[in-house]
Amino acid sequence: MPIYEYRCESCSGKFEVLTRFAERDSLQMCPSCESTKTRVMVSSFAVAGGSESASSLDFGSEQTGGGCCGGACGSCGSSPN
Ligand SMILES: [Zn+2]
Repeated sequence: MPIYEYRCESCSGKFEVLTRFAERDSLQMCPSCESTKTRVMVSSFAVAGGSESASSLDFGSEQTGGGCCGGACGSCGSSPN
């Protein structure tokens, strides 16, 4: 089961609930103030709409300034500078 993060609108506290997806949008009680004025926070993986942050995961291809070891091995960090 996934863990969803909720935010309490009464005390602005955050808490996590292990629940099913079908019950994600159901009301959860805040463990701090026992209020049910809580909202589920959108998980990062669920954020659609194309952001550039996804490119950070693409380190399979060789980029500049990295090399195999960050330049410590001498064979990959030999940029003339
Ligand atoms: Zn609360």
